[in-house]
Amino acid sequence: MKVGVLALQGDVREHIKALEECGVSPFSVRRPSEIENIDALILPGGESTTIALLAEEFGVFDVIQNRIQKGMPVYGSCAGMILLADRVLDATKDQKTFGGMDITVRRNAFGRQVDSFESDLHVDGITTPLMKAVFIRAPWVESVGSGVEVLASVKSPDGREHPVAVRQGTLLATSFHPELTGDNRIHRYFVEQVCKVEKSIK
Ligand code: GLN
Repeated sequence: MKVGVLALQGDVREHIKALEECGVSPFSVRRPSEIENIDALILPGGESTTIALLAEEFGVFDVIQNRIQKGMPVYGSCAGMILLADRVLDATKDQKTFGGMDITVRRNAFGRQVDSFESDLHVDGITTPLMKAVFIRAPWVESVGSGVEVLASVKSPDGREHPVAVRQGTLLATSFHPELTGDNRIHRYFVEQVCKVEKSIK
């Protein structure tokens, strides 16, 4: 299975390393032909607005969007979660996303005073024992459609629980960055569980 990491901006190298540690030989991808040739894709953490603009500049925006619609497995961390969301709150003017996930996310949701923080997180079916989750200017999920499974939530400063790990069929997204901690359970779950679903559909 060929897993690509979208290499336009963000923490590409960290995702490559995490995938290698899961026994996958990943590809850095940024051209249309490269996107057409992979079986699954990771959208890294970084800046969602920049990644979307660069995707248009490199002519891969529509290619990625089409492949997502056709069922390519995709995992997005942080900015990658925003890029997978059908709806974004606190977006910049004209901010575009690839979409595909029936979720509404709020960018930079955890507020300035806690721009970055760590939390010990239980991700359903994936992280027992808990995983250390790193949040950096992270989004949270405001609402999910009926086909979306919430795998983990975090209590926000206002006391409400917000999803921070979600899955919808072949799409997986986390507000946090497992690629930064050396804990590869989310990547392994993506490769072994989420990508397998696509194979059985084919
Ligand atoms: N705040 C960033 C955005 O809106 C995401 C931050 C991250 O990926 N660490 O894209």
